[in-house]
Amino acid sequence: MASSCAACKGSGDRKKKKQQKKPKCELIGYESLPEWLKDNEFIHGYYRCEWPMRETILSIFSIHNETLNVWSHLVGFLLFLCLTVLTAMVIPSDGISGTFEDASSARSYWGDLMSMANMTEALKHEAAAACLLLPPATTDLSENEEKIPTSCPPNTSSSPSHHHVALIQEDAGRAPRAADAASTDPITRWPLFAYLCGAMVCLLTSSACHLVLCHSERTAYVTLRLDYAGIAALIVTSFYPVVYYSFLCHPGLQRLYMGFITAFGASAVTASLVPAFQAPELRPLRAALFSLMGVSGFVPVAHKLVLYGGRQEAVVTAGFEALMGALYGLGAAVYALRVPERWFPGRFDLVGHSHQLFHLFVIAGAYAHYLGGVEYLRWRDADKCW
Ligand SMILES: [Zn+2]
Repeated sequence: MASSCAACKGSGDRKKKKQQKKPKCELIGYESLPEWLKDNEFIHGYYRCEWPMRETILSIFSIHNETLNVWSHLVGFLLFLCLTVLTAMVIPSDGISGTFEDASSARSYWGDLMSMANMTEALKHEAAAACLLLPPATTDLSENEEKIPTSCPPNTSSSPSHHHVALIQEDAGRAPRAADAASTDPITRWPLFAYLCGAMVCLLTSSACHLVLCHSERTAYVTLRLDYAGIAALIVTSFYPVVYYSFLCHPGLQRLYMGFITAFGASAVTASLVPAFQAPELRPLRAALFSLMGVSGFVPVAHKLVLYGGRQEAVVTAGFEALMGALYGLGAAVYALRVPERWFPGRFDLVGHSHQLFHLFVIAGAYAHYLGGVEYLRWRDADKCW
């Protein structure tokens, strides 16, 4: 197909190529773009168009209107890679990991992670837990517990039931259940790692899409579908820790919600395979479909609050989920409305246009969801089913 935009000079002729080592590629304006590259008329300049693949890939190091779109999600990918390594190393896995041989060491690693999040709060809760849960002198301590000198009044109750311990601990906030050694075996981590993988897939495919989409219409066709699949992967895997840990004691609901969102995500990816789905005028529909998929997360979160609304852990995790929803919602709105470039066309071509803001909202929302996931582990490591 003949190029309809200014291609790189010296990229097609082999003899000339030898004389001129690097083809010179130029950035062009919106009006010079072929129809398949026209997406946002409020971004006027700095477009790459049908550059050779080598030059397209190397343009990651040059300035054009996609540079910050590529780098924002690439940095986001690296952030989530670090979070994955951190989660694997700092949080004990499955209670049988070779790294964390017993529940005692697991608890100390928990302390490390939580102190990073909020050391003051953790210390406050540790102190409250120590005061409220210190067993009477006549009660046998578990082999993993240490006697700690304390000025707290002695606990004069007879050996408390598990339920009684849970109630006392609830009063003590989100403190680790130090006295309940039997419940300190960590719960499985796969739903949180599935989410981290989904986030990394989304961020990496998005970054790659922004980098190479301009190479050819065919490349755009393939990478845009990869991009939609990545977004669907992020949304679907975002449900997994929420549903798995919220309904840990309700396997029927676990299967129902996980099956629903997985089927929804697969349907969205299938729908996005339809070429007409890419048309610029369908931008609000694209935003709406993926937003609807995300908004459906409201159902299991509300259901969790109905089941566990009295527990601080349920409220805290729902708070992170609400924050994530707000950030994604803002991002989707900015994406669909194309602000601020709509108000000042051509002024935000390189920095500050809606897609860059959308990327930042996505990273912030995904990070809020990760923090919620860590709260789930904390909750379910201490309390499995009760
Ligand atoms: Zn993007």
